[in-house]
Amino acid sequence: MRRVPFVALLLGVVLLSAGLLAMTGAVAQERQRDKTLQHDAAQVASAFSSYFERARSLDLLLAQSPAFRPPPGQPIDNEAANRALIYLERLYPGAISEACLIDDRGHELARVTEGVAAPVADLSSTESQNAFFAPTLSLGSGEVYQAPPYVSPDTHEWVISNSTRVRQPNGHLLIVHFEVSLASFRPLVIPNSTGGHVAVVERTTGRTVLEDDIDLPATSGEQFPSSPAASYLTSGEPRPSTVTVDDQRVAMDTVTRAPGNANDWTVLEWPTGRASFVPPWAGGGAAGAGAALILLFLFILQRQHSTLRKASRLDHLTGLANRRAAEEALDKGVAAAAQPGGGFVAVLMLDLDGFKQINDALGHDKGDLVLQEIGRRLHANTFEYDTAARVGGDEFAVVLRQLRGTDDVAAVAHRLREALVRPFTIDGVARFVGVSVGAAIYGEHGTTSEDLMRSADAAMYDAKRGREGVRVYDAGTTAGAKATWLAAELLIAIENAEITLAFQPEFDLGTGRIIGVEALARWTRDGVPIPPVDFVALAEHVGLIRPLTLLTLRRALDEAKVWQAAGTPVPVSVNLSGQLVSDRHLQADISAMLAARGLTGDVLVLEITETTVVKNVRVATEVLGGLRAIGIRIEMDDFGSGYASFKSLHELPLDGVKIDRSLVEGLGAGGQSLLAATIEIGRRLGLTVVAEGIEDEPGLALVRRLGADTGQGYHLARPMSPEAVRLLLSEDSTAPARRP
Ligand code: C2E
Ligand code: CA
Ligand code: CA
Repeated sequence: MRRVPFVALLLGVVLLSAGLLAMTGAVAQERQRDKTLQHDAAQVASAFSSYFERARSLDLLLAQSPAFRPPPGQPIDNEAANRALIYLERLYPGAISEACLIDDRGHELARVTEGVAAPVADLSSTESQNAFFAPTLSLGSGEVYQAPPYVSPDTHEWVISNSTRVRQPNGHLLIVHFEVSLASFRPLVIPNSTGGHVAVVERTTGRTVLEDDIDLPATSGEQFPSSPAASYLTSGEPRPSTVTVDDQRVAMDTVTRAPGNANDWTVLEWPTGRASFVPPWAGGGAAGAGAALILLFLFILQRQHSTLRKASRLDHLTGLANRRAAEEALDKGVAAAAQPGGGFVAVLMLDLDGFKQINDALGHDKGDLVLQEIGRRLHANTFEYDTAARVGGDEFAVVLRQLRGTDDVAAVAHRLREALVRPFTIDGVARFVGVSVGAAIYGEHGTTSEDLMRSADAAMYDAKRGREGVRVYDAGTTAGAKATWLAAELLIAIENAEITLAFQPEFDLGTGRIIGVEALARWTRDGVPIPPVDFVALAEHVGLIRPLTLLTLRRALDEAKVWQAAGTPVPVSVNLSGQLVSDRHLQADISAMLAARGLTGDVLVLEITETTVVKNVRVATEVLGGLRAIGIRIEMDDFGSGYASFKSLHELPLDGVKIDRSLVEGLGAGGQSLLAATIEIGRRLGLTVVAEGIEDEPGLALVRRLGADTGQGYHLARPMSPEAVRLLLSEDSTAPARRP
């Protein structure tokens, strides 16, 4: 199908050029033939012209004959007159059928027919009845009457005649008259070069006097046939021309006539065949068809182009606009709004929450169905002048026009969100996705498309973080575009499970065996590892700490499961952000994770940080108590680094403390007693004491001497890959007990 337009183009070009060539060729050939015809007609016409001229001269010459002018008183001598008439015939051999001398009363004085003189007794006395008689008598001197064709009473054939006056010395008039048979003109009407036809037509009557292949009409009162070209002859000035008669080119030329010539003759010449093999109309038709095909090609091309243009701005899954189209729409809106008194434009960014879970759990097909349904709902809830687009996997944008202000935008955003969060029925089960919407308005939150998109994006992340649903951009509450972008990437990393874990073992300072492994989150962004302290703080800041922690928990428990299956069961420690310590759903989530893996709570240790915990001791106590109830150990991390109230420390349900690294590393004289005191507090509270940050042998010896139960640090083992820790665990379980 894609080839069709090009075939059409090719054919079109071929037809157009061939057609034009054929047409110009045919036209040229026709012109050439017209010229030839014209030339031939002119020759025939000139032959007739010279006949008439010559016949006229002869008649005038004859009229001068002395035989017709006897001295005054003497009659015309019949014999002398006959001789003069015969002499005329000699001058004009084969043409003159009859010649005579007539007096002014119509009496023949002499007559010669086909070279034979008539006896005086046979001479007629009724010549005045002849059609030429009266016109001849009224001629001026020196003029010859050349009569139109008639049937000769003497020879009974079609003739034309020439007659002129002879004035006698006594003042009487005679007429010298001779007839020429029409048939004698036949040799003149033979077509010359083209093999066509020649005819002589009387212009005033439109009748054909002579034609090359038609016999003269019968002499018994028949008429000359009417010429098809009659209407071209009877009007206008006679002049050489070529006209089209009944689809036939006909060249015409006029026979010159002197005063007194009643024959107003036009010579016609026309061809029998066509001038060229291809008639001009065929070439023209082909050229027209070619041009039409080229136009068709251009039309199809234009259609394809616009289809492609449309397709390149379409999101094929949802049928909505795509990112490019959304950007273009926003560009347009911004350009319009930038005009004085220009319109309004705002952009909404919409991001689905929990879409990935549906996709993972039910498969991409179902995920696509959800996206398509979202597309339908967006489409149904926006106006034609708005542009709804899918701009990313589960990200959508709407460019809004024709609104009045912030309140309108927020209202539309809420309406859209409400439409989108309605449950989706998939395989008969209702499913929910959340939607966070951010809005930015031209003028208030940016004056370029990029700024507006970025602001709407930032507002959307704000909405996500605050679980607000809809947020209109507010520069004051958004923690800088950079952090927002990083947060966006972190979100993606979490959703795509791009966060990995490193594992650092903890050793029993008595036996030297591994008695636990701490899971530490790792995020490599564009090949650069981001320190966990940074991205954990960011996650806490932008509301992503919960999904991050849940991801870490899942991974850590997966690994604990592996260790258990390998016969080297040790608990895994997971760091719990202070924000989650008061999360009442946490216990349910963790229980489900454990159940899903067939694990019990004693495989998990949760490390909490003292500074955050103490902010809400009551809720923390409740949450941690619940976790502890299912066998999970709770340890206080970074113990000794903050300003924990010993009272709250006493109230919290704890199993152990992790002495902060800063107390163990690089110990000065005073430091040692601080470390000793901190360890002592843990011990007094009846808690397990873990010393972290053991970087060398003296450090190890010290914490052991001061009574720590467990140790962790680069000197003992660095954080390592899951594979490395598995190997270490299997070695540890087979090795004999030792003091580390
Ligand atoms: P933390 O919980 O105190 O974790 C121990 C940190 O000390 C780890 O740094 C570890 O690599 C480092 N460390 C261990 N032994 C030594 C040593 O001998 N000398 C020194 N100088 N450092 C040692 P890392 O992995 O960079 O983690 C930093 C902090 O990030 C953690 O401190 C923890 O507060 C936080 N974090 C890491 N992963 C997670 C997580 O999944 N969730 C939460 N909420 N926080 C996490
Ligand atoms: Ca820790
Ligand atoms: Ca720590």
